[in-house]
Amino acid sequence: MTMLDPKDGPLLVASHNEGKIWEIRELMEPFGFTVTSAAEKGLPEPEETGDSFEANARLKALAAMEATGLASLSDDSGICIEALGGDPGIYSARWAGEARDFVMAMRNVEEKLQAAGATTPDKRRATFVAVLCLAVPGEEPREFRGEIGGEIVWPPRGTLGFGYDPIFLPDGLDRTFGEMMSLEKHAWKPGQPDALSHRARAFKLFAEEVLGVR
Ligand code: IMP
Repeated sequence: MTMLDPKDGPLLVASHNEGKIWEIRELMEPFGFTVTSAAEKGLPEPEETGDSFEANARLKALAAMEATGLASLSDDSGICIEALGGDPGIYSARWAGEARDFVMAMRNVEEKLQAAGATTPDKRRATFVAVLCLAVPGEEPREFRGEIGGEIVWPPRGTLGFGYDPIFLPDGLDRTFGEMMSLEKHAWKPGQPDALSHRARAFKLFAEEVLGVR
């Protein structure tokens, strides 16, 4: 696959989720890319009929690329909780309902953990997963997966971030994603050995392969 170059035009973030669009914009702009989004372009949201993060990322990137002819980068992500058999996983957004009510979704997670007897940290393990998919006209789409482990805490902590951030405490740190500024949560730049968030870890793989940076 050819490398992506800012001179070839804007990159379209194939998403309607403002939190994700914001994070990917912050990740891409240092490389000189103009970033637009499916939301800004008024594209319809494709139905996520896939049974994996990869399949859903691919169908979102392809739908946006086919509608606009632009290189399109999608993100399919979610939180997989061990004691809940990996739920909500690819259904993370759906657990928040039409109203995108994550206070309700987080409460639902906690109720299910209590019902499963998951009251100690070792029983409250979770993994945030993000799969980025890049679709470029005339090329096979490519996926990049990033993960980060941690534990589910209750009550929610912090008002920063989005989605399930306030109940996710990443391993080795003492603040939840909801207590971190967005740049601390997801920043990655060339030369930095590790990225923190699942999305930044996937982005690092993407940047190494598609932007040719280390
Ligand atoms: P989808 O990829 O659009 O199906 O939705 C993924 C859902 O997972 C989001 O709506 C959030 O609820 C959740 N999610 C994904 N990444 C994050 C994150 O970085 N922080 C908090 N929640 C996230």
